[in-house]
Amino acid sequence: MTTTLILGDWLVTSASRSPRAEHGVCVIDGDVVATGTHGELRASYPDAPVVNAAGHVVMPGFVNAHTHLYGVLAHGIPAAAKPPTDFWSFLADYWWPLVEDALDSDMVVAATDWGCAEMLRSGVTSFYDILEAPNALPGALLAQKEVVERHKLRGLLSFEATERAGPDVARLGLAENLALIDACAPDPQGLVAGLMCWHTTFTCSPSFIVDAHGMAQDRGVRSHAHVNEGVHEGDWCNEHRGMRTLELYDSLGVAGPDMIASQCVQLSPRELELIRECEVNVTHMPLANCEVGGGIAPIPELINAGVTVGLGSDGYVNDFFEVMRGAFLLHKARLQDPTAMSAEQVLHAATAGGARALGLDRIGILEPGFAADLQVVNLNFPTPVTAHNLVEQVVLWRNYTHVRDVMVDGLWRVRNHEVLGVDLDQLGARCRAQATRLWQVGR
Ligand SMILES: [Zn+2]
Repeated sequence: MTTTLILGDWLVTSASRSPRAEHGVCVIDGDVVATGTHGELRASYPDAPVVNAAGHVVMPGFVNAHTHLYGVLAHGIPAAAKPPTDFWSFLADYWWPLVEDALDSDMVVAATDWGCAEMLRSGVTSFYDILEAPNALPGALLAQKEVVERHKLRGLLSFEATERAGPDVARLGLAENLALIDACAPDPQGLVAGLMCWHTTFTCSPSFIVDAHGMAQDRGVRSHAHVNEGVHEGDWCNEHRGMRTLELYDSLGVAGPDMIASQCVQLSPRELELIRECEVNVTHMPLANCEVGGGIAPIPELINAGVTVGLGSDGYVNDFFEVMRGAFLLHKARLQDPTAMSAEQVLHAATAGGARALGLDRIGILEPGFAADLQVVNLNFPTPVTAHNLVEQVVLWRNYTHVRDVMVDGLWRVRNHEVLGVDLDQLGARCRAQATRLWQVGR
């Protein structure tokens, strides 16, 4: 049994509780077992080693609730011959032919390796990845699993099944998810798990979606789909299915608490209402929504309606502090309302909100009974830190360079800014070599 006290200047147990000065946590093996003042914890655990986090806040690790780890390989990729003009052409002229369809297993593994290290150093302790690489099937998810387990990160992995490349690849996509779900099932306490994922209503037929959802229900896992990332899907669905995307999911019996709908940028009032009524979980990618010109998702409206909202990087800008900044600022501009998203709402989405959206019950909060997934963040601001301003200071003025330590499941993964057991230069070089190969395909 390993006991550790982590004593910071401040402790944030969750976004919904006020930060507490001179408090810390006690971790035994993989769990938070107590929080309290430094004095209380030292008295209760007199023999426990102490990690001194003076000048720092101890807070929950981030949950990156939607990423594409392979996405890093497209950072800086040469422009497509026909530059995208809207969300549809972003997919059809650029992302599908030049990125997704060109990926092979070596590329996916190198990007996953880099991505795990990059997430750890920016305080991410759990993530949900969606792989889109029809030519890396089968076996890509099991290869990713091995990498994630080596980094000792908490990861949900999935393959985005789609019918756009034909029925054989479509079935392979479903089988890929089932193979991972079944491989992880014998170890429910393991750090890696699988879930079901299909792309959209414009690349998957209703019967395919119903089949995939049924497979997820049989195995007791959640289902994920990208929903209305721009205006394209809602309009397409209306034209071809006679109703908008969420209405179709509702009519198919798919919209429910076991569904994760990512993006949700362009929602009709009825779709917003259906998300609330059906208790669909939503994940929000503020910066990637800007990249594809999709719009700005009605996240404050969803939060005010009581919807569970998580935050994700989408594999685009991966420093999770930057993602939080996007969520904090974008909605104020759209609604012309400086109160539109509080720092606490953003931190909630970045931690417990994301965990709830993904169905990770013991994650995102530092209270007894929760997993010891935490980060230690430097507070050397040029202005005083108070219980009132701490969360906003962190959301607005920190970045990955301020993350000193990261613990996942009770194990230190980052100490003194160093991702343990990882040669970042080597991982970066391998990623660059694979990106170079990717950029040559189809040109
Ligand atoms: Zn995505």
